Amino acid sequence: MQRSFDWSRLSGRIDLHAHSNASDGTDTPTELVRTAADSDVAVVAITDHDTTAGWAEAGLAAERFGVIVVPGVEFSSQHEYRSVHILGYLLDEHSPAFLAERERIRHERLGRARRMVERIGRDYPLHWQHVVEASAEGATIGRPHIADALVALGIVPDRSAAFAGILHWRGGYYQPHRAPEPEHAVRIIREAGGVPVIAHPAARGRAMMERDELVKLVDAGLFGLEVFHRDNPDEDREWLMERAQEFDLVTTGSSDWHGSGKPNRMGENTTAPAVLARIINEATGSAPVIPAQAAG
Ligand code: AMP
Ligand code: FE
Ligand code: FE
Ligand code: ZN
Repeated sequence: MQRSFDWSRLSGRIDLHAHSNASDGTDTPTELVRTAADSDVAVVAITDHDTTAGWAEAGLAAERFGVIVVPGVEFSSQHEYRSVHILGYLLDEHSPAFLAERERIRHERLGRARRMVERIGRDYPLHWQHVVEASAEGATIGRPHIADALVALGIVPDRSAAFAGILHWRGGYYQPHRAPEPEHAVRIIREAGGVPVIAHPAARGRAMMERDELVKLVDAGLFGLEVFHRDNPDEDREWLMERAQEFDLVTTGSSDWHGSGKPNRMGENTTAPAVLARIINEATGSAPVIPAQAAG
């Protein structure tokens, strides 16, 4: 059924980047898929940070809401002082290297969040327990969960205010966490049969993604660039499109939906059906979940 699905027939939007509460979104995976259905999104990728914990529930919701679900992940990586996010689609979640790396990053993130909370706790009545209460069990913990704890305590009005102040990297409490090189993340995704795409490559200005580094990632098996994302400044998109042409990379678009945790709206940026078809053909790790009503 998957193999014979005619992607050119697809009507509705394709949004290849969304977070559930398995990481730092506020929707359960079921709610995420329902939001997709309510937003004229026909295909949604669930791409939680460093975890596949939301896949099974999102897959069940696919059938219920008639939305095609693409299992994915957003890997945290790091080059020098820069954080680089690599999206991986249609991986085999049982790939030993993939499993080991995501558990390692999640462990690093947990230690880092505890260190940040300890520092913040010197100046504000914040305790680790508040962060636990603000997170779904087993979620990949990040600054958004600390933000939610600060909101619950009435210290800040919302996540964005927390990020602009206490949680800002220059806010006085910031702690980094160790993460693999982007090249390593790309290789692990490929090894797991997945398809790697750089998330919001110009999010902090084009200097964040130098050409030399891109060449290394292409050599490692990079497949695409997420050009159409609200965090990529307009003036950098042309450069990204040129690099995509130069290296024969696909260009994707997506919302980076985080539920009520971020202003990004589901389906606000989209990916072309032909690009989705190329991603699906490239993948060997897993397949999209296509509900009977979508397969028609
Ligand atoms: P961390 O990975 O723990 O350093 O936290 C960064 C994550 O926080 C990103 O992946 C975003 O999803 C989220 N984030 C960044 N800025 C904001 C913001 N202003 N409001 C809400 N969430 C944000
Ligand atoms: Fe996030
Ligand atoms: Fe990201
Ligand atoms: Zn994201």
